[in-house]
Amino acid sequence: MMSTNQNLAEIQPLTGFNQTLTYRLSPKFKNLVQVGTLVQIPLGSRRVLGIVFSLAPSEVPPQKSLKFIIAVVQEETVLTEELIRLARWITSYYAASMESVLEAMIPAAIREGMQAKTLRTIAVAGSDQVLDEKILQRAPKQRILYEFLTRTKHPVDLRETLNNLNLTESVAVGLVEKGLASFQKEEIQRVAYDDDLEDCEQRVQSNLKLTDEQKDSGKEIKNDLQRGEFRVRLILGVTGSGKTEVYLEAMKTVLAQNGGVLFLVPEVALAPQTVSRLRHFFSGTEEEVVVWHSNLAAGERVDAWRRLRTGKAKIVVGARSAVFSPLVNLRLIIVDEEHESSYKQEVSPRYHGRDVAVYRAMLNRSTCILGSATPSLETMRNVELGKYEQSNLTKRVDGKELPLIHLVDMRRESQRKRTPSVISQPLLAALRQRYAQREQSILFLNRRGYNTTMLCPDCGYVEQCKQCSVALTYHRTDGFLKCHICGFRKIAPLVCPKCQSINLRKTGHGTQRLEDLVESLLPRGNKVVRVDTDMASKKNSLRSTLRDFRKGKIDVLVGTQMIAKGLDFPNVTLVGVIDADLPLRMEDFRASERAFQLIVQVSGRAGRGDRAGEVFVQSYAPHSPSIQFARKSDLHGFVEDELSIRKEFSYPPFRHLIRHLFKGRNGDKAEFYAQQWKLALEKDPIPGLSVRGPAPAPLEKVKGYYRHHLLYFTNHVGRTVREIKKRRDLFPIDREVQDVLDVDAHQII
Ligand code: ADP
Ligand code: ZN
Ligand code: ZN
Repeated sequence: MMSTNQNLAEIQPLTGFNQTLTYRLSPKFKNLVQVGTLVQIPLGSRRVLGIVFSLAPSEVPPQKSLKFIIAVVQEETVLTEELIRLARWITSYYAASMESVLEAMIPAAIREGMQAKTLRTIAVAGSDQVLDEKILQRAPKQRILYEFLTRTKHPVDLRETLNNLNLTESVAVGLVEKGLASFQKEEIQRVAYDDDLEDCEQRVQSNLKLTDEQKDSGKEIKNDLQRGEFRVRLILGVTGSGKTEVYLEAMKTVLAQNGGVLFLVPEVALAPQTVSRLRHFFSGTEEEVVVWHSNLAAGERVDAWRRLRTGKAKIVVGARSAVFSPLVNLRLIIVDEEHESSYKQEVSPRYHGRDVAVYRAMLNRSTCILGSATPSLETMRNVELGKYEQSNLTKRVDGKELPLIHLVDMRRESQRKRTPSVISQPLLAALRQRYAQREQSILFLNRRGYNTTMLCPDCGYVEQCKQCSVALTYHRTDGFLKCHICGFRKIAPLVCPKCQSINLRKTGHGTQRLEDLVESLLPRGNKVVRVDTDMASKKNSLRSTLRDFRKGKIDVLVGTQMIAKGLDFPNVTLVGVIDADLPLRMEDFRASERAFQLIVQVSGRAGRGDRAGEVFVQSYAPHSPSIQFARKSDLHGFVEDELSIRKEFSYPPFRHLIRHLFKGRNGDKAEFYAQQWKLALEKDPIPGLSVRGPAPAPLEKVKGYYRHHLLYFTNHVGRTVREIKKRRDLFPIDREVQDVLDVDAHQII
């Protein structure tokens, strides 16, 4: 039996199968196929892609007529054993399909069999050649290509160039036949991102003298690295304390040991400073910094992927998905701004990049550094429990104090005027002054609540659910206030229960067109630009806007929380937070945490240059703890206060939260099955699981689908997910209703 097993392989199909299947290996493939090899296999009547998960399995399935592997797609293995283990963990922990995880791990171009070496390039033949004008006289298209090639000189991607110039391949062939150009197959190194880097380059200083705190943290990490064990360390450093330099020191140590470094940032377009700092730091050495982000062209991605896979490049910087980079000998993972919610993927597989990073570090017995000025409560709790170590950077490197934070009490604005303005008098005055001085400002808008909450503009009162400690939301259709966690409902009051005001507002704010408003309030000729998340997905538009801002072409930048991440604009001297407590009014138990983080992070953005900065925070609840703690930059006070609330309600980080969403075009059906499911769970309870709901989701209807959800709280995710799946397989559900699990859910919308 052993001898036959030698010719078998367990293969995970890339399409729709959540288990491996056994295939036979013909002799010609025996030496080519390893664990992690991408192959083509027959599946039913189709040919599909699959990955070898193991060779020579010991348990041979009963069927005799096993099929043969058809072809090997990539010579290089596309996954390592480590990544296969990681994939298995993600599928079980996050209740994700293997297919979705593998798709996240292996770039599409690699799966499609794209080879770096098959990239055809074209280059001008001999640069010193003098063009005989006549040769191209009758071939205007060839001339266009020829002129393009003489300008660029180095080989360029043939297909891309032809596309860009709107030419066909025959034009290139013609040029080559005339001996003016030649085709090549060599790998070309395309470096994405260069334009941004140039802007930052001038400002990068070399040979910084580290502060004592930086040195101490550096030493602590060095110790971690030398132990060669799994270790997670939080670098708790106030904004501007120079965390990047500490990361760099750690990277130097790892590279000296020939190890690989994975550096995660919340959004690459927002991290050109960091990337350029890294490139600068490692320039002149062998080390190459690979930048990994969602806007890489297929070819760029294949190149980057191969350089990492083969160990030519040992450093990768990227957003969430870079956590799957095929680095060799991974020794260090850095998660910068670890608190950012952009690390959580909101489509399947719904993983949290930071937590996957920690798990991956564990698999590799390597070090994971989490950096932030405002760590997530999950991380703070892990430090408290002794699972994570902590290093501190308590001072800004420039020795400057954090900028002054002015709290603007919007209740007073409301009393002064009938329709309260979006921009208060003090903030407007400051904006005008900055504009007159040709200094730049940033205005932050919170992501809007999806529903209307009821706010008293006179006293700041917001109606909350007593059981769930979240804001109730107003439903225009029936005039009820509802809780989106437990389903509690009551009739909306007509007067404020706290101050008896009759001005109770049930509408959102007119902040949608804030940029228009600001533009109209400043003298003519001003430039106000808004950036938002939609923009981030459009290729380059976010980057180019940020570049314009950096160059001083924009006076006021209006944006959501996303632009609060790690930006460093020296000419920004004013930061305004339009609606600091909107998070507090949202139906989310993480609301205070978000409000706190936003204020502390944005106030770290003002006055990074030589000029002092000022921050205006507009709030209807200026005395709420999160805003007061943020004003004093008192992280520990905030964490203590907030943890006690979370504990009282057994919210994360005290238990894990799993969200179970039911959706369907027919709202009654979706609700019905959510209720039936709840009943089924009550009949056959899962030990240690507490269930809330069903309740309508905060976003009750999305793209024609009605949504209802249950929230689960548990100490044991793995076991719970297994139990839910077991019951779910036996639970009859209408075809028109879909259900999704979101483990460690972040956005409960
Ligand atoms: P953080 O990420 O902690 O907010 P950064 O790493 O972005 O801070 O550093 C803030 C600024 O301080 C950067 O411009 C950086 O070049 C500079 N800096 C860092 N360390 C030092 C140092 N030891 N001496 C002088 N400047 C430093
Ligand atoms: Zn409730
Ligand atoms: Zn009131």
